[in-house]
Amino acid sequence: SAIKQKELFGQPIGLYILFLTEMWERFSYYGMRALLVLYMTASTLGEDARGAGLGWTEKEALALYGWYTMLVYVASIPGGMIADKLLGQKKSVLLGAIILCLGHGVLVMTDTWAFYTGLGLVIAGVGLLKPNISSMVGGLYKEGDIRRDKGFSVFYIGINLGSLLATMIVGLVVAEWGWHAGFGLAGIVMVLGLINYIYGQKYLTHVGNLNVDKEDENEISYGQLYGKLLKSSKQLIITLLLIVASAIGWFNLGWGYGLLFLTLTAITALLMMIYKELETQVFKDRFLVLLLSFIMVIIFWGAFEQAGGLMNLYTDTKTDRDLFGWKVPTVMFQSLNAGFIILFATAVASFWAKRKLKSKEASSLFKMALGIIIMGFGFLFMVFAAMEFEKSGSSSMIWLVLAYLFHTLGELCISPVALSFITKLAPVKYASLMMGVYFAATGLGNKVAGIIGESASDFGELTIFSGILIFTVLIGGLFILMLKPLKRLTHGVEEKERDLK
Ligand code: GLN
Repeated sequence: SAIKQKELFGQPIGLYILFLTEMWERFSYYGMRALLVLYMTASTLGEDARGAGLGWTEKEALALYGWYTMLVYVASIPGGMIADKLLGQKKSVLLGAIILCLGHGVLVMTDTWAFYTGLGLVIAGVGLLKPNISSMVGGLYKEGDIRRDKGFSVFYIGINLGSLLATMIVGLVVAEWGWHAGFGLAGIVMVLGLINYIYGQKYLTHVGNLNVDKEDENEISYGQLYGKLLKSSKQLIITLLLIVASAIGWFNLGWGYGLLFLTLTAITALLMMIYKELETQVFKDRFLVLLLSFIMVIIFWGAFEQAGGLMNLYTDTKTDRDLFGWKVPTVMFQSLNAGFIILFATAVASFWAKRKLKSKEASSLFKMALGIIIMGFGFLFMVFAAMEFEKSGSSSMIWLVLAYLFHTLGELCISPVALSFITKLAPVKYASLMMGVYFAATGLGNKVAGIIGESASDFGELTIFSGILIFTVLIGGLFILMLKPLKRLTHGVEEKERDLK
């Protein structure tokens, strides 16, 4: 478009509106997430200032937590579909923000129905907001604009600023005024996000608008896509096989997994049909390479998300947290990631941008594969930690700091990069859906992480940490070996990136 966008620090002003909105939204999400397991397992008697909890067992709480953190991201798929076909990204974000305010508002109440209703609303709200605000960041840049990757890194700082503030403040509020004040704070902060977004609309007039051309004869609804599936035998057979697999999952693992597999079947079928419908081979190839890159995404988060689970417990029980006579609280280690992101995000992005301008390897696929390797390498320090523990009965904090440092550097190579990559490659008609599928992949990664973490009680940490190290480095290496053919599938989408100003 020919619209001259106002700029601040070399980026369109709209970026900072989205930055702040997402910062407040992530504050509310991570603040609430930090409380969830603690609230569920707290006694119903309310013996301290925090008030009564739900009195669940740890196992029950972790199970709900696992499903919740997965669903919150899987909801990005319907969230993306609604944006593509009904509302456009901008209005979907608005609706999501309103629903989030309601959700946190409901959680202020103490009834059990309010707890489930609140969580349901938060899932719906994040599903509408998170993928679509990310796509809108991409919408600020023209094709080939080299500022795009850096813009996503700036946006990513906003995400982590929100999570850092939340993890520092919410705990204090709860200790003083109780659980529901904590939930309420998340709600108030989300209202700030909403106001900020509404106020910033004037900088966003050109992004996130509904793209459906009512006259377009090729326009096809999701219903029609599923209808076509029934007519094409190959697709139908694959789908039936997946449904059978779901049924087996249902009987062996319970209805939760059955529903999960069924959902995955529905998504796979839809993606197959979209692939078939895409008009040109270029679109098809790009669609395919996106889906392949999502394999890296699942594996990455499956390993990375040990942070809140297994590594968190390890910090609590097996680490010597004594610092000059002061015992560093376990939760503080959870802030290292966000802190490192804020410190290093722009440096990492500038590093890659400079390489690109010198025509050296800096493709998104390369960065993502390297990100897995760097993050995996972080587990080497956890292996050292586990070895030290086995020898002397406790291990040094420095291992955790180093592990989180490498995890964060890896995250910076993969996560903002993937967001940007999707906005370069996804066909316009399905741009929001593809962003939704990406977040669903991260959600699956979360679930995988939980499953791996649980198995630590059977295998021991040393085995788990070494296993993750070897597996992730191998997978990253494999993708680097396949770089050439994979890059060919992008049809040069990143080769022509340059300074467009
Ligand atoms: N921590 C990042 C965020 O909250 C990434 C989460 C994800 O992609 N699942 O946005």
